[in-house]
Amino acid sequence: MTHTSVKDRHRVGIIGWPVAHSVSPAMHNAAFKALGMHWQYELLPTPPDVLERRMTELQVRGFAGANVTIPHKQAVIPHLDQVVDAAAVVGAVNTIVVVDENLIGYNTDIAGIQWALQQNQVAPAGWHVVVLGAGGAARAALYALHALGVASISVFNRTLERAERLIEDLQPHLSTSLEAAPLTDVGQLQRTLTRAGLLINTTPVGMVGMHPDVDASPLPEGVILPAYLIVFDMVYNPQKTRLLQQAERAGARSIGGLDMLIGQGVEAFKLWTGRTPPADRMRQAALGALEVDEEA
Ligand code: NAP
Repeated sequence: MTHTSVKDRHRVGIIGWPVAHSVSPAMHNAAFKALGMHWQYELLPTPPDVLERRMTELQVRGFAGANVTIPHKQAVIPHLDQVVDAAAVVGAVNTIVVVDENLIGYNTDIAGIQWALQQNQVAPAGWHVVVLGAGGAARAALYALHALGVASISVFNRTLERAERLIEDLQPHLSTSLEAAPLTDVGQLQRTLTRAGLLINTTPVGMVGMHPDVDASPLPEGVILPAYLIVFDMVYNPQKTRLLQQAERAGARSIGGLDMLIGQGVEAFKLWTGRTPPADRMRQAALGALEVDEEA
């Protein structure tokens, strides 16, 4: 194995399957260019059976690190030398940093959620929050909300057992009070929304290329959104999802997933390079890449 010193590590990329539609290369390469850095962010399409080989490649082929996306955020953990506390609690890694050939796992989705709320002047300390979905993104949301001082969170999920398992895993680590509920219980969701300040969608429902499709909303039929609610949808493609349209029609504030995407990217960039990237340039590049994807 050839040894690559830290100063020669100028490659980063995104490990996922599929990853062809990722806007992360455009976002990070724009930031490298703006800062005059000769770094390169690459697509690293990785079917599950080559994940282990990809980890070796990160160590020996000049990589400073990588992002990790669907379906590897959990599967990658056993291949890492260390996982930082927050990512270990959440149980998902979306960023790897290579230090002396050691692979260290982080979860910058947590910072991405906090960034999105901060950018939109949402300070939810003491609030009740409703989260739709109980996958990896929901886990990051619970951790981020706890760190922001949220009082309590209700997790509504299609599969109740998964929400219950999430709460079993996370409650011992978080001071925020957590409860699980089935997404099909319209009455309970409606009652819970009336005492909530924030609703976060962490399901992919309404996303381009996902089943059902962009005309779908994760909100069950018959639920009425209160006008004082803030609705944050993690989906960023399309930018104005069906759920956000419903929120706006109800007079509620809406926040799309693009700010979170930028926020998690800013944090990963800092971890790899030690430098702060220009977030506005990253946003511009991400928007450009989304438009190209829409036209294709
Ligand atoms: P995941 O682990 O696969 O979890 C998906 C969750 O959505 C599960 O709770 C699943 O419920 C639920 N779900 C899926 N399809 C559904 C449907 N048709 N109806 C109701 N619920 C449904 O995925 P993830 O990693 O958490 O990612 C979720 C979403 O967050 C994706 O759209 C991803 O793009 C987005 N995300 C955005 C950012 C950003 O930067 N903006 C960052 C991370 C993730 P069951 O348990 O019943 O299957």
